[in-house]
Amino acid sequence: MTDATATTEPSAPLAHHRLGLLVGDGIGREIVPATRRVVDAAVAVAGGPDIEWVTLPFGAEAIVTDGAPLPERTLDALGDLDGWILGPHDNASYPDRYRGGTAPGGAIRKRFDLYANIRPARTLPGVRATCPGMDLVIVRENTEGLYADRNMAVGSGEFMPTPDVALAVGVITRAACERIAHTAFDLAARRRKHVTVVHKANVLTLTTGLFRDVCREVGAMYPSVTIDELHVDAAAALLVRDGARFDVLVTENLFGDILSDLTGELAGSLGTAPSINASARKAMAQAAHGAAPDIAGRDVANPTALFLSAAMLLERLAVSGPSYLADAARAVESAVDRCVGGGLATADLGGTASTTAFTDAVIEAIAS
Ligand code: ATP
Repeated sequence: MTDATATTEPSAPLAHHRLGLLVGDGIGREIVPATRRVVDAAVAVAGGPDIEWVTLPFGAEAIVTDGAPLPERTLDALGDLDGWILGPHDNASYPDRYRGGTAPGGAIRKRFDLYANIRPARTLPGVRATCPGMDLVIVRENTEGLYADRNMAVGSGEFMPTPDVALAVGVITRAACERIAHTAFDLAARRRKHVTVVHKANVLTLTTGLFRDVCREVGAMYPSVTIDELHVDAAAALLVRDGARFDVLVTENLFGDILSDLTGELAGSLGTAPSINASARKAMAQAAHGAAPDIAGRDVANPTALFLSAAMLLERLAVSGPSYLADAARAVESAVDRCVGGGLATADLGGTASTTAFTDAVIEAIAS
């Protein structure tokens, strides 16, 4: 990672940061360029040098230019970056022969071992949410569980011995549980100091039982953080009934995928639900929602989720990078809060603002 502070010349100009940009499909063509504008504005206000954007082929356009939705040259280029913004991909729109195998987003997570999917759900000011006051983070293990397309070194964990029998192999390892548990407890220590371990150890005794046990062991190393646990079905019910009581939830891949869509919607809209996928060395901003082909190309998509995902990315990069990145992250979050809190809303939140108008307003708020 570029560390602009590690110079012997105090007056030397700050080194610029390089970030990848993968536009993708559907509303990605609208919200990814909008996010780039917002990040540029925030970094400028924070006093940082211009971001060097590295635009990489990805999605349907990459099928045309490179013969694959996730070309090898894109993966190679990502290897040289410590952060990037990933637009949504719409596999369903690809020709048949590009639809099998690992989905592009999953393939990137697997290639760079982005083991932590961090998905906050926070009710934004002024948003009428099913669960007002929700402010939680789901920490989802991202590499194993029942995700058959990525939980094997070779081949797939899902197979059919006969046309009428389908099997899926779930994988839970101590090493993966340990690192995701540390991610969750580290995060909780900086928040309201509570972790809920979500599992189904009454039925999936060995697999999610191992997940639960390792989380308990890791939790014991964080005496300032309280820990409790819930079966995933009970967690779903409690999130709907009283979502504001939760701080950090840590869970395995499939449970986290489902629960985080639920919490995104409970907090307001999937259109406001951000996420990053991270390893110790790399991070990828990716909105929790998909390509939304039903509204693509109409300038109505809510770009908030990707704006806030990009802010999470900047904050993460600031941990070992220049501090202007953290200032820029805060500028994005504050501007979004002020715009949404002031009543500006895209259609998914009951408003009439276009993607462009919303983006312009956020950029104006960043500058003010
Ligand atoms: P995927 O499988 O890739 O997650 P999906 O079709 O299941 O895709 P989305 O693409 O997230 O799910 O869309 C679900 C619904 O939410 C659609 O009606 C879509 O229009 C809406 N939606 C998703 N993202 C946004 C957004 N950013 N702004 C407004 N509406 C959105």
